[in-house]
Amino acid sequence: MQYTTNSEKETKKLAEKIAQWIRQAHYINVVALTGELGAGKTTFVQGFAKGLGIKDKIISPTFVLIRQHLIPKTKKILPAGRQVLFHVDLYRINSFQELGLKEILKNPDNVVLIEWAEKLNYLSPKNSKKIIIEKLEGDKRIITID
Ligand code: ADP
Ligand code: MG
Repeated sequence: MQYTTNSEKETKKLAEKIAQWIRQAHYINVVALTGELGAGKTTFVQGFAKGLGIKDKIISPTFVLIRQHLIPKTKKILPAGRQVLFHVDLYRINSFQELGLKEILKNPDNVVLIEWAEKLNYLSPKNSKKIIIEKLEGDKRIITID
């Protein structure tokens, strides 16, 4: 599926909808985000988090690599256990071992959004969705759900 957005706000709205859709898709708990710097990956996570009722300010984990946000009770992703959103940014990292990412991904109770996910080669299409954001002229973006 492919969408065009023309502003940051539209991308957030779309991400919010996708979050609501993923809430119903029991088998998906990982969202792999791909797109150049400034494409809108962090913006997407902000909209997605809003769709899960998260009120925290979502800022880029470029330096801390991983941030965690609690999903409020009423917006928990099914199955009912999924209560934490992990926001991961792999831009600056070349060795994933210390990150503990495999452990985080292995736990089906976690919802994991990963920026620069193309750096990982072990994501399974069984439980992950790929989102590709292409930056066009101005504020236009093409967002593909693979
Ligand atoms: P990334 O995480 O991919 O590096 P960010 O989400 O941090 O990108 O930044 C995207 C930038 O592009 C923001 O400054 C945002 O306001 C701007 N922007 C302009 N148009 C759009 C759009 N259609 N979708 C998302 N972001 C947009
Ligand atoms: Mg980012």
